[in-house]
Amino acid sequence: MFQINDNFGKIAGNYLFAEVARRVTSFQDKNPGRRVIKMGIGDVTEPLPAACIKAFHDGVTDMAARETFMGYGPYEGYAFLREAIARNDFQDRGADVSPDEIFVSDGAKCDTGSIQELFSHNLKIAIPDPVYPVYVDSNVMAGRTGAFRDGRYEGLTYLDCTPENGYVPAPPKEAVDAVYLCFPNNPTGATATRAQLEAWVKYALANKALILFDAAYEAFVRDPALPRSIYEIPGARECAIEFRSFSKTAGFTGVRCGFAVIPKCLKAADSSGKVTALHGLWMRRQATRFNGVSYPVQRAAAAVYSKDGKAQVKNLIDFYLENARLFREAILAAGIPCVGGDNSPYLWAHVGGDSWAFFDRLLSEAGIVCTPGSGFGRCGEGHVRFSAFNSRQNVLDAIALLKGVLKKG
Ligand code: PLP
Repeated sequence: MFQINDNFGKIAGNYLFAEVARRVTSFQDKNPGRRVIKMGIGDVTEPLPAACIKAFHDGVTDMAARETFMGYGPYEGYAFLREAIARNDFQDRGADVSPDEIFVSDGAKCDTGSIQELFSHNLKIAIPDPVYPVYVDSNVMAGRTGAFRDGRYEGLTYLDCTPENGYVPAPPKEAVDAVYLCFPNNPTGATATRAQLEAWVKYALANKALILFDAAYEAFVRDPALPRSIYEIPGARECAIEFRSFSKTAGFTGVRCGFAVIPKCLKAADSSGKVTALHGLWMRRQATRFNGVSYPVQRAAAAVYSKDGKAQVKNLIDFYLENARLFREAILAAGIPCVGGDNSPYLWAHVGGDSWAFFDRLLSEAGIVCTPGSGFGRCGEGHVRFSAFNSRQNVLDAIALLKGVLKKG
């Protein structure tokens, strides 16, 4: 019989969302007709901006005539989209990124999961705890970790994100080869200051390490003092790859489009010491495994940068940020410390105790669903995540219900 990849056997079942769904179903079965408000979801609720819809339709119309039909596109994405990204997301904000350093993709999940195909097998990797699980699981599948014991994989360096460090870890004392960073963070909603990112870039340059910077939520940053790209930090072009997504920026979770930035000057060595640019390796990888994002989707994504698109995207993000602000106010008013919810759609509430126990209490007493923090890592215990991706009415109703429960408690 053919053998499977044994590393799959190491993967600790991440039953977080399945377990959340199971408990919600069980609650609904026992309480028919009782309203449940889902404040745990990481998916957007609002439709695509009108400018994106129009461009999407125009792209489909192009496909309908021989003269304008588009077949396979460039592996790295159409120039019209890469040029718009480079100019608007980076150059206009003082970050030096050129269109040919951008690789358009079907989203940040694929990119953050696949990038480790460029890594050597024995790379030492640092991972924040709590964390977006893709970074960990993709490395486990590739055999870059040992067994899962006491909630952690052997062989990974964990960076504790705690109330003490404001959920933003400092570089570790020991040297690692690669580190995953995500700001604004999922699940904590924490953001990193310029000084904190400078410390990471300094560490990476000193240790010849690679920073894998996930900026899927950068559109939520409204504080002008906060960096939105790692490339706003001098030296980052020599040590960082950045991942972006249109999912949360413009409601593309079901449309699928994102991109990775790999500066041409970002270099690494092979086992013989020969130095190679990661840009060329990723281009080769994409050419082998990926046939590009569909033309209408890239047209829709490019519309994010049109005059109308920019205004509509701003309105969309303003809407979610107002949800987050309202919920954050209610959580703080209840005396629960929290981070996020200001420059992020996520709110990380330090409820104390067992996060599943808090989940159960909130569900049974208020009909509100949150996400237990322990599902994102050991340091998530004692916390729950609330998401601002919801209708305004649901958020207002959840706030009213929450007040009743927390007053009792
Ligand atoms: N990175 C982070 C931190 C996320 O939270 C998510 C989605 O929830 C993604 C990446 C995935 O984004 P995409 O929809 O572009 O694959």
